[in-house]
Amino acid sequence: AAPVAFMGGMSRSARAGIIVKSSGTLEQLAQARTAAFDKTGTLTYGRPRVTEIHAQGIDADEVLLLAAAVEQYSGHPLADAVVDRAREDLGDVPPAEDVSETPAHGVRGLVAGRVVVVGRARYVASQAGAADSAGDDLPRPQGVTVVHVAVDGRYVGYLALADELRTEATATMASLHRAGIRTTMMLTGDGQEVARHVAARAGIDDVRAELLPQDKVEAIRTAPQRPVLMVGDGVNDAPVLAAADVGVAMGARGSSAASESADVVITLDDLSRAARAVHIGKRTMRVAW
Ligand code: ADP
Ligand code: MG
Repeated sequence: AAPVAFMGGMSRSARAGIIVKSSGTLEQLAQARTAAFDKTGTLTYGRPRVTEIHAQGIDADEVLLLAAAVEQYSGHPLADAVVDRAREDLGDVPPAEDVSETPAHGVRGLVAGRVVVVGRARYVASQAGAADSAGDDLPRPQGVTVVHVAVDGRYVGYLALADELRTEATATMASLHRAGIRTTMMLTGDGQEVARHVAARAGIDDVRAELLPQDKVEAIRTAPQRPVLMVGDGVNDAPVLAAADVGVAMGARGSSAASESADVVITLDDLSRAARAVHIGKRTMRVAW
C-alpha cells in the first residue's frame, strides 16, 4: 500500500480528534467485523447519580452514610456518586479505617468499629457472610446499577444508581454497521438487567454482563468475527484494549492506562468518533490500493 495514503488517513483522523498510533491500525479498522464496548463511561457518560436507597433493618440514611464512609477512599465513579449524595443529604461523611478495595468488585472498611462492605452482590456476600439472595424482598428498580451494602455481616440494603446513555450512542452503532461491522457487543461488569436496558436503547447486538476484567479479555479472544475493535475508557479496560485487534481509548476523560494500551485514542468526549475511525480506515484502504 502507498505510504502516502496512510499518512493521509492518519492526519485526517488527527483532525477529527482521533489519534491512530500506527498505519497497520488503519488496515485493521477497515477490516473490523466486531465492535465491543465497555458500558460505564463509554456507552454512558460515566457520571452516575444515586437515585434510590432501599434499606432493611436499618435507616436508609445510615446505609448511605456507612457506604459513603468507605467509598470516599475509592476512585470508582460509583463511589464518587455515593459520596456526593451523602454530602448533599447528610453533610459530613465519617472516616473509615482499614479500607481495602477489590477492583471491579467493591470496597470494605471499618466505620466506628463496624465492618462495612459495599459493591457487587457476590462480593458483598463473600466478604460479609450475608446471603447472595439477601434483599429479595426489596424492590428491583429497572435500568439502574445496584450497589449492595452489608454491615457486620448482615445485608442492609442497596443504592440504585443511574447513568445516562450518551446521546450519540445509538447513531454510532448504526454508523458502525454501515462501515461493515457485523456485531456490536457490550462487555460490562455491571448487572444483567441494567446491561440489557442500556444495550436495547443503544441498539447493541450482543450483551455480556457481570464480567470481571479477565472475562472481558476472554470475550474478546473468543469473538466469532475478527478483527475485533474494543472501545473503553477506564483503568480496568487496559487489558481488554490490549487484547483487541484494535483497542480504542476514549481519552478525553478516560484513564492514561487505557490510552497507553490502546491503538487509537479519541481525544474528544464523543463516542461517534469510534465509527468515524472505521470509516476513515476504509477510505484510506480504498485510496491505498
Ligand atoms: P464496568 O464494566 O461497567 O466499567 P466495573 O468493572 O468498574 O464496571 O465494576 C463492576 C461492578 O463492580 C459495578 O457495577 C459495581 O457493582 C461493582 N463495584 C466495583 N467497584 C465498586 C465500588 N468502589 N463501589 C461499589 N461498587 C463497586
Ligand atoms: Mg468502565
